[in-house]
Amino acid sequence: LAYDQTPEAKGRVPLAIFFNCLALVIVTAFMVESLALGHIYHGAFLLTMIVLVILNYLLFRITHRALLYYDLTILTMAINSLYLLATGGVENTGALWIYLYPLLALYLQGIRKGALSLLGLIVGSFVVFFAPARTLVTANYSPAFISRFVASMTSVTILSFVYEYSTQRTYRRLIAATAMLERLAKTDELTGLASRRAVLEHLELELQRFVRYRETFAVILCDIDHFKQFNDTHGHDCGDLVLQAVSEILLESGRKVDIAGRWGGEEFLLVLPATELEGAVEVAERLRKAVEAFRIDYDGSLLSITLSCGVAVWREGDGDHDALIKRADICLYQAKEEGRNRVVGR
Ligand code: GH3
Ligand code: MG
Ligand code: MG
Repeated sequence: LAYDQTPEAKGRVPLAIFFNCLALVIVTAFMVESLALGHIYHGAFLLTMIVLVILNYLLFRITHRALLYYDLTILTMAINSLYLLATGGVENTGALWIYLYPLLALYLQGIRKGALSLLGLIVGSFVVFFAPARTLVTANYSPAFISRFVASMTSVTILSFVYEYSTQRTYRRLIAATAMLERLAKTDELTGLASRRAVLEHLELELQRFVRYRETFAVILCDIDHFKQFNDTHGHDCGDLVLQAVSEILLESGRKVDIAGRWGGEEFLLVLPATELEGAVEVAERLRKAVEAFRIDYDGSLLSITLSCGVAVWREGDGDHDALIKRADICLYQAKEEGRNRVVGR
């Protein structure tokens, strides 16, 4: 993820605004001082800077483009820095303000674009220091000043790079770790199905869709018949294998929009968007048959599995998903009572 696509980049607006306000205050003070001392050109330049800062802010308020705001802030600052370097500011102190530049350019623009901005400033500084024509450059710097300035600026620049790089690396690692945790929380480890939490999230989504579009949806609650026997007869590993096999069938036979999740130990919940009762019962019946036809080869013996399903459809007065699942659960109980390996829908 490139820096300028991260939400982190947009989050730097407050600091950019703060810096611009600070610059506004300082530059205004210098402008007043310059005009009072009769330095008309200097005052006019500072006034131009003030106008640029304000225009940039207004542009940001209109376009809401944070990255453009940063770019123009840094550009204004580059112009200001080179001007201060060229004129020397008050008693050759102008160069001191340039130390803010690498910090701010890297912080606001990220490493790549910030590096370009820095390169621009370095080239500009060299022109100021070594330009043969002395028309623009009025300041006189001693060779000792120039060498110290270059050395200290280089140090600040390197440190800014290291700091910004490590910040961004930390940020990227954090994003990756969060994504991994999210994936873990949303999938069931054994079966690869959606976790109970993920299914609940989908139910909530369907509920909101119903409120908006009046589109009903259905759930199928499935429970493997006599699952305990697989564990008891062949061991826990066999039970796990059965769970994985049934999960695969659920994943394969559903539609892309359907969500299949592991609801509990050997219970599964399917959420079927835009589905009426008849359709959902049909789906459940198809699943039941697919599971019934399937054989698991475990330690040389072919095991068959059966599934009981309870189907329920969302109704206006249901209130929340608990009522819907409760209805499906009652149907499932009835399917078990009636002899298992069947679908009951209501
Ligand atoms: P019924 O037909 O009435 O549903 O009978 P059943 O044996 O399937 O139901 P019961 O609820 O009595 O048994 C469920 C068993 O599932 C109990 C539990 O030890 C086992 N179980 C739950 N989670 C897992 C798991 O992740 N792996 C394995 N191997 N067994 C599990
Ligand atoms: Mg059960
Ligand atoms: Mg069971």
